[in-house]
Amino acid sequence: MSLIVDSFGRKVEYLRLSVTDRCDFRCVYCMTENPCFLPREHVLHLEELAWIAQAFTELGVTKIRLTGGEPLVRTDCDQLVSLLGKLPGLNDLSMTTNGSRLSKFAKPMRDAGLKRLNISLDTLNPELFTQLTRNGKLERVIEGIDAAIAAGFERIKINAVILKEQNDHEVLDLVDFCRERGLDIAFIEEMPLGEMDERKRARHCSSDEVKSIIDTRYPLQLSNKRTGGPARYYTMADSHIHIGFISPHSHNFCHECNRVRVTVEGQLLLCLGNEHAIDLKSIVREYPGDIERLKAAILAGINLKPKQHYFDNNEVQILRFMNATGG
Ligand code: SAM
Ligand code: SF4
Repeated sequence: MSLIVDSFGRKVEYLRLSVTDRCDFRCVYCMTENPCFLPREHVLHLEELAWIAQAFTELGVTKIRLTGGEPLVRTDCDQLVSLLGKLPGLNDLSMTTNGSRLSKFAKPMRDAGLKRLNISLDTLNPELFTQLTRNGKLERVIEGIDAAIAAGFERIKINAVILKEQNDHEVLDLVDFCRERGLDIAFIEEMPLGEMDERKRARHCSSDEVKSIIDTRYPLQLSNKRTGGPARYYTMADSHIHIGFISPHSHNFCHECNRVRVTVEGQLLLCLGNEHAIDLKSIVREYPGDIERLKAAILAGINLKPKQHYFDNNEVQILRFMNATGG
Protein backbone atom coordinates (compact mmCIF):
# COMPACT_ATOMS: atom_id res chain seq x y z
CA MET A 1 0.00 0.00 0.00
CA SER A 2 1.55 3.30 -1.09
CA LEU A 3 2.37 5.83 1.63
CA ILE A 4 2.61 8.55 -1.00
CA VAL A 5 -0.80 10.19 -0.93
CA ASP A 6 -1.39 13.69 -2.28
CA SER A 7 -3.68 16.37 -0.91
CA PHE A 8 -6.52 15.17 -3.18
CA GLY A 9 -6.28 11.61 -1.79
CA ARG A 10 -4.60 10.11 -4.87
CA LYS A 11 -2.11 7.32 -4.09
CA VAL A 12 1.11 7.35 -6.09
CA GLU A 13 2.10 3.84 -7.09
CA TYR A 14 3.88 4.50 -10.36
CA LEU A 15 7.19 6.24 -11.07
CA ARG A 16 8.46 7.28 -14.48
CA LEU A 17 12.20 7.49 -14.13
CA SER A 18 14.08 9.30 -16.87
CA VAL A 19 17.57 7.95 -17.44
CA THR A 20 18.77 10.37 -20.11
CA ASP A 21 17.62 13.43 -22.07
CA ARG A 22 19.71 12.31 -25.05
CA CYS A 23 18.32 10.52 -28.06
CA ASP A 24 19.36 9.23 -31.47
CA PHE A 25 16.10 10.59 -32.98
CA ARG A 26 14.75 14.13 -33.12
CA CYS A 27 10.98 13.55 -33.29
CA VAL A 28 9.19 16.68 -34.46
CA TYR A 29 6.72 16.73 -31.56
CA CYS A 30 9.33 16.00 -28.89
CA MET A 31 12.37 18.18 -29.46
CA THR A 32 13.92 20.74 -31.76
CA GLU A 33 16.25 19.83 -34.59
CA ASN A 34 19.32 20.99 -32.66
CA PRO A 35 18.51 20.35 -29.03
CA CYS A 36 20.76 21.44 -26.23
CA PHE A 37 21.39 18.38 -24.04
CA LEU A 38 22.35 18.53 -20.38
CA PRO A 39 26.01 18.58 -19.37
CA ARG A 40 26.93 15.12 -18.04
CA GLU A 41 27.51 16.37 -14.48
CA HIS A 42 23.82 17.34 -14.27
CA VAL A 43 22.70 13.83 -15.12
CA LEU A 44 21.98 11.37 -12.29
CA HIS A 45 24.54 8.58 -11.94
CA LEU A 46 23.60 4.94 -11.89
CA GLU A 47 23.72 4.69 -8.07
CA GLU A 48 21.71 7.91 -7.70
CA LEU A 49 18.99 6.58 -9.98
CA ALA A 50 18.96 3.34 -8.00
CA TRP A 51 18.68 5.16 -4.62
CA ILE A 52 15.80 7.23 -5.87
CA ALA A 53 14.05 4.12 -7.16
CA GLN A 54 14.66 2.37 -3.85
CA ALA A 55 13.21 5.30 -1.88
CA PHE A 56 10.04 5.19 -3.98
CA THR A 57 9.63 1.43 -3.66
CA GLU A 58 10.13 1.61 0.12
CA LEU A 59 7.28 4.14 0.14
CA GLY A 60 5.04 1.70 -1.73
CA VAL A 61 5.62 2.40 -5.43
CA THR A 62 5.13 -0.93 -7.23
CA LYS A 63 5.70 0.09 -10.86
CA ILE A 64 8.63 1.86 -12.46
CA ARG A 65 8.95 2.75 -16.12
CA LEU A 66 12.34 3.83 -17.47
CA THR A 67 12.15 6.52 -20.08
CA GLY A 68 13.98 9.56 -21.48
CA GLY A 69 15.20 10.67 -24.02
CA GLU A 70 16.04 7.27 -25.37
CA PRO A 71 16.90 4.98 -22.43
CA LEU A 72 18.92 2.58 -24.60
CA VAL A 73 21.47 5.24 -25.59
CA ARG A 74 22.64 5.16 -21.96
CA THR A 75 25.43 2.58 -21.86
CA ASP A 76 24.81 1.46 -18.26
CA CYS A 77 21.08 0.97 -18.80
CA ASP A 78 21.38 -2.83 -18.47
CA GLN A 79 23.10 -2.42 -15.07
CA LEU A 80 20.32 -0.11 -13.94
CA VAL A 81 17.69 -2.64 -15.00
CA SER A 82 19.53 -5.38 -13.06
CA LEU A 83 19.70 -3.21 -9.94
CA LEU A 84 16.06 -2.16 -10.09
CA GLY A 85 14.92 -5.67 -10.97
CA LYS A 86 16.04 -6.77 -7.49
CA LEU A 87 14.12 -4.10 -5.54
CA PRO A 88 11.67 -5.73 -3.12
CA GLY A 89 8.09 -4.67 -3.76
CA LEU A 90 8.66 -3.66 -7.38
CA ASN A 91 6.14 -5.77 -9.33
CA ASP A 92 6.51 -4.13 -12.67
CA LEU A 93 9.64 -2.77 -14.36
CA SER A 94 9.11 -1.47 -17.87
CA MET A 95 10.65 0.85 -20.44
CA THR A 96 9.52 3.19 -23.19
CA THR A 97 11.90 3.11 -26.14
CA ASN A 98 12.05 4.26 -29.74
CA GLY A 99 13.13 0.72 -30.68
CA SER A 100 16.20 1.75 -32.68
CA ARG A 101 18.57 -0.32 -30.49
CA LEU A 102 16.27 -3.14 -29.53
CA SER A 103 17.65 -5.65 -31.99
CA LYS A 104 20.82 -5.56 -29.87
CA PHE A 105 19.35 -4.90 -26.42
CA ALA A 106 15.93 -6.59 -26.25
CA LYS A 107 17.26 -9.92 -24.99
CA PRO A 108 19.83 -8.54 -22.51
CA MET A 109 17.17 -6.21 -21.10
CA ARG A 110 14.66 -9.04 -20.75
CA ASP A 111 17.32 -11.19 -19.08
CA ALA A 112 18.21 -8.32 -16.73
CA GLY A 113 14.62 -8.17 -15.44
CA LEU A 114 12.66 -5.82 -17.69
CA LYS A 115 9.10 -7.10 -17.96
CA ARG A 116 7.24 -4.85 -20.38
CA LEU A 117 8.08 -2.54 -23.25
CA ASN A 118 6.37 0.37 -24.92
CA ILE A 119 7.83 1.00 -28.36
CA SER A 120 7.10 4.19 -30.26
CA LEU A 121 6.05 3.85 -33.90
CA ASP A 122 4.08 6.59 -35.66
CA THR A 123 4.23 5.41 -39.26
CA LEU A 124 5.05 2.39 -41.43
CA ASN A 125 6.21 4.54 -44.31
CA PRO A 126 10.05 4.69 -44.35
CA GLU A 127 10.24 8.22 -45.79
CA LEU A 128 7.64 9.62 -43.41
CA PHE A 129 9.37 7.84 -40.53
CA THR A 130 12.63 9.60 -41.33
CA GLN A 131 10.76 12.89 -41.71
CA LEU A 132 8.92 12.60 -38.35
CA THR A 133 12.01 11.42 -36.44
CA ARG A 134 14.20 13.74 -38.56
CA ASN A 135 16.82 10.97 -38.92
CA GLY A 136 15.43 7.57 -37.85
CA LYS A 137 15.41 4.40 -39.97
CA LEU A 138 12.09 2.53 -39.91
CA GLU A 139 13.75 -0.77 -40.81
CA ARG A 140 15.85 -0.78 -37.63
CA VAL A 141 12.81 -0.14 -35.47
CA ILE A 142 10.82 -2.96 -37.10
CA GLU A 143 13.80 -5.28 -36.53
CA GLY A 144 13.86 -4.08 -32.92
CA ILE A 145 10.15 -4.79 -32.46
CA ASP A 146 10.62 -8.31 -33.81
CA ALA A 147 13.63 -8.84 -31.51
CA ALA A 148 11.48 -7.74 -28.56
CA ILE A 149 8.74 -10.20 -29.54
CA ALA A 150 11.36 -12.97 -29.77
CA ALA A 151 12.80 -12.01 -26.34
CA GLY A 152 9.45 -12.86 -24.70
CA PHE A 153 8.40 -9.68 -22.88
CA GLU A 154 5.22 -10.01 -20.81
CA ARG A 155 3.59 -7.24 -22.79
CA ILE A 156 4.65 -5.05 -25.69
CA LYS A 157 2.64 -1.98 -26.57
CA ILE A 158 3.16 0.30 -29.54
CA ASN A 159 2.77 4.05 -28.89
CA ALA A 160 1.72 6.24 -31.80
CA VAL A 161 1.37 10.02 -31.72
CA ILE A 162 -1.07 10.95 -34.48
CA LEU A 163 -0.73 14.33 -36.20
CA LYS A 164 -3.28 15.62 -38.67
CA GLU A 165 -2.27 15.56 -42.33
CA GLN A 166 1.00 13.88 -41.41
CA ASN A 167 0.27 10.34 -40.25
CA ASP A 168 -3.50 10.28 -39.61
CA HIS A 169 -3.95 8.30 -42.86
CA GLU A 170 -1.89 5.48 -41.31
CA VAL A 171 -4.07 4.70 -38.33
CA LEU A 172 -5.54 1.53 -39.86
CA ASP A 173 -2.15 0.33 -41.14
CA LEU A 174 -0.74 0.69 -37.63
CA VAL A 175 -3.69 -1.25 -36.20
CA ASP A 176 -3.16 -4.02 -38.78
CA PHE A 177 0.57 -4.13 -38.00
CA CYS A 178 -0.28 -4.70 -34.31
CA ARG A 179 -3.03 -7.24 -35.08
CA GLU A 180 -0.58 -9.29 -37.17
CA ARG A 181 2.04 -9.31 -34.41
CA GLY A 182 -0.35 -9.59 -31.45
CA LEU A 183 0.75 -6.24 -29.93
CA ASP A 184 -1.35 -3.69 -28.07
CA ILE A 185 -1.32 -0.14 -29.39
CA ALA A 186 -2.01 3.24 -27.78
CA PHE A 187 -2.78 6.34 -29.79
CA ILE A 188 -1.57 9.51 -28.05
CA GLU A 189 -2.72 13.09 -28.53
CA GLU A 190 0.22 15.43 -28.97
CA MET A 191 0.95 17.55 -25.89
CA PRO A 192 2.27 21.10 -26.19
CA LEU A 193 5.56 20.68 -24.33
CA GLY A 194 8.38 23.00 -25.34
CA GLU A 195 8.28 25.77 -27.93
CA MET A 196 8.91 24.63 -31.52
CA ASP A 197 8.05 25.83 -35.00
CA GLU A 198 6.23 22.74 -36.21
CA ARG A 199 3.69 23.00 -33.44
CA LYS A 200 2.45 26.30 -34.81
CA ARG A 201 0.76 24.28 -37.55
CA ALA A 202 -2.77 23.13 -36.81
CA ARG A 203 -2.09 19.43 -36.50
CA HIS A 204 -3.98 18.33 -33.40
CA CYS A 205 -5.79 15.04 -34.03
CA SER A 206 -8.16 14.03 -31.26
CA SER A 207 -8.56 10.50 -29.93
CA ASP A 208 -12.20 10.58 -31.04
CA GLU A 209 -11.10 11.25 -34.62
CA VAL A 210 -8.62 8.35 -34.48
CA LYS A 211 -11.23 6.08 -32.94
CA SER A 212 -13.76 6.89 -35.65
CA ILE A 213 -11.20 5.95 -38.32
CA ILE A 214 -10.67 2.55 -36.65
CA ASP A 215 -14.42 2.02 -36.19
CA THR A 216 -14.91 2.12 -39.97
CA ARG A 217 -13.01 -1.19 -40.28
CA TYR A 218 -13.00 -2.65 -36.77
CA PRO A 219 -15.91 -1.58 -34.55
CA LEU A 220 -14.39 -1.00 -31.14
CA GLN A 221 -15.90 -2.16 -27.86
CA LEU A 222 -14.95 -0.46 -24.60
CA SER A 223 -12.86 -2.82 -22.48
CA ASN A 224 -12.79 -2.91 -18.71
CA LYS A 225 -9.01 -3.29 -18.83
CA ARG A 226 -7.31 -0.73 -16.59
CA THR A 227 -3.56 -0.45 -16.33
CA GLY A 228 -3.57 2.29 -13.70
CA GLY A 229 -2.53 4.70 -16.45
CA PRO A 230 -4.33 7.36 -18.46
CA ALA A 231 -5.26 5.11 -21.41
CA ARG A 232 -8.85 4.03 -22.10
CA TYR A 233 -8.81 0.63 -23.80
CA TYR A 234 -10.99 -0.95 -26.49
CA THR A 235 -11.12 -4.40 -28.09
CA MET A 236 -12.16 -5.76 -31.48
CA ALA A 237 -14.39 -8.79 -32.03
CA ASP A 238 -11.79 -10.79 -33.95
CA SER A 239 -8.49 -10.00 -32.20
CA HIS A 240 -7.17 -10.27 -28.66
CA ILE A 241 -5.13 -7.05 -28.84
CA HIS A 242 -6.14 -3.89 -26.99
CA ILE A 243 -6.33 -0.45 -28.54
CA GLY A 244 -5.78 2.41 -26.12
CA PHE A 245 -6.31 6.15 -26.33
CA ILE A 246 -4.31 8.61 -24.28
CA SER A 247 -6.18 11.85 -24.54
CA PRO A 248 -4.66 14.61 -22.43
CA HIS A 249 -6.74 17.21 -24.30
CA SER A 250 -10.07 15.58 -24.93
CA HIS A 251 -10.58 13.25 -21.92
CA ASN A 252 -9.02 14.56 -18.75
CA PHE A 253 -7.72 11.70 -16.60
CA CYS A 254 -6.14 13.72 -13.77
CA HIS A 255 -8.64 12.64 -11.10
CA GLU A 256 -7.21 9.11 -11.21
CA CYS A 257 -3.55 10.04 -11.71
CA ASN A 258 -1.34 7.62 -9.76
CA ARG A 259 2.08 8.67 -11.04
CA VAL A 260 4.96 11.06 -10.68
CA ARG A 261 8.10 11.54 -12.73
CA VAL A 262 11.75 12.01 -11.88
CA THR A 263 13.71 13.81 -14.56
CA VAL A 264 17.27 12.84 -15.38
CA GLU A 265 18.35 15.93 -13.44
CA GLY A 266 16.69 14.49 -10.34
CA GLN A 267 13.70 16.82 -10.31
CA LEU A 268 10.61 15.14 -8.92
CA LEU A 269 7.86 16.36 -11.27
CA LEU A 270 4.43 16.02 -9.78
CA CYS A 271 2.51 16.57 -13.02
CA LEU A 272 3.46 16.43 -16.71
CA GLY A 273 1.48 19.58 -17.40
CA ASN A 274 2.76 21.75 -14.55
CA GLU A 275 6.15 23.03 -13.46
CA HIS A 276 5.89 22.02 -9.75
CA ALA A 277 9.08 20.12 -8.87
CA ILE A 278 11.21 19.01 -5.93
CA ASP A 279 14.98 18.79 -6.25
CA LEU A 280 15.98 15.23 -5.28
CA LYS A 281 19.41 15.45 -6.90
CA SER A 282 20.71 17.91 -4.31
CA ILE A 283 19.65 15.45 -1.60
CA VAL A 284 21.29 12.39 -3.19
CA ARG A 285 24.46 14.38 -3.87
CA GLU A 286 24.66 15.98 -0.43
CA TYR A 287 23.61 12.88 1.54
CA PRO A 288 24.55 9.89 -0.65
CA GLY A 289 22.77 6.70 0.39
CA ASP A 290 20.56 8.48 2.99
CA ILE A 291 17.30 6.85 1.90
CA GLU A 292 15.31 8.13 4.88
CA ARG A 293 16.09 11.75 3.95
CA LEU A 294 15.03 11.09 0.36
CA LYS A 295 11.81 9.45 1.47
CA ALA A 296 11.01 12.40 3.75
CA ALA A 297 11.54 14.84 0.84
CA ILE A 298 9.25 12.80 -1.43
CA LEU A 299 6.51 12.65 1.21
CA ALA A 300 6.79 16.37 1.91
CA GLY A 301 6.78 17.23 -1.79
CA ILE A 302 3.77 15.18 -2.81
CA ASN A 303 1.34 17.77 -1.51
CA LEU A 304 2.46 20.04 -4.32
CA LYS A 305 0.85 17.68 -6.84
CA PRO A 306 -1.72 19.87 -8.59
CA LYS A 307 -5.30 18.81 -9.13
CA GLN A 308 -4.98 18.69 -12.91
CA HIS A 309 -3.16 19.84 -16.04
CA TYR A 310 -4.48 22.46 -18.47
CA PHE A 311 -3.13 22.05 -21.99
CA ASP A 312 -3.84 24.64 -24.64
CA ASN A 313 -2.69 23.87 -28.19
CA ASN A 314 -2.41 27.54 -29.00
CA GLU A 315 -0.15 28.36 -26.14
CA VAL A 316 2.84 26.49 -24.75
CA GLN A 317 2.77 26.81 -20.97
CA ILE A 318 5.41 24.16 -20.26
CA LEU A 319 8.83 25.10 -21.54
CA ARG A 320 10.41 21.70 -20.86
CA PHE A 321 10.63 19.50 -23.93
CA MET A 322 9.31 15.95 -23.67
CA ASN A 323 12.80 14.40 -23.87
CA ALA A 324 13.88 16.49 -20.85
CA THR A 325 10.70 15.65 -18.98
CA GLY A 326 10.69 11.88 -19.37
CA GLY A 327 7.68 10.96 -21.48
N1 SAM B 1 12.57 7.76 -26.66
C1 SAM B 1 11.57 6.90 -26.16
C2 SAM B 1 10.40 6.79 -27.12
O1 SAM B 1 10.32 7.60 -28.04
O2 SAM B 1 9.59 5.89 -26.94
C3 SAM B 1 11.06 7.28 -24.77
C4 SAM B 1 10.87 8.73 -24.48
S1 SAM B 1 9.57 9.51 -25.40
C5 SAM B 1 9.63 11.13 -24.80
C6 SAM B 1 8.15 8.75 -24.66
C7 SAM B 1 6.87 8.87 -25.43
O3 SAM B 1 6.48 10.23 -25.44
C8 SAM B 1 6.95 8.41 -26.87
O4 SAM B 1 5.96 7.44 -27.11
C9 SAM B 1 6.69 9.67 -27.66
O5 SAM B 1 5.98 9.40 -28.84
C10 SAM B 1 5.87 10.49 -26.69
N2 SAM B 1 5.95 11.93 -26.92
C11 SAM B 1 7.04 12.70 -27.10
N3 SAM B 1 6.70 13.99 -27.24
C12 SAM B 1 5.36 14.05 -27.14
C13 SAM B 1 4.40 15.09 -27.18
N4 SAM B 1 4.76 16.36 -27.37
N5 SAM B 1 3.10 14.79 -27.02
C14 SAM B 1 2.71 13.49 -26.82
N6 SAM B 1 3.56 12.45 -26.74
C15 SAM B 1 4.87 12.73 -26.93
FE1 SF4 C 1 13.71 10.63 -28.91
FE2 SF4 C 1 11.56 9.48 -27.93
FE3 SF4 C 1 11.71 12.14 -28.14
FE4 SF4 C 1 11.52 10.70 -30.33
S1 SF4 C 1 9.96 10.83 -28.71
S2 SF4 C 1 12.95 12.39 -29.99
S3 SF4 C 1 12.61 8.93 -29.81
S4 SF4 C 1 12.93 10.90 -26.84
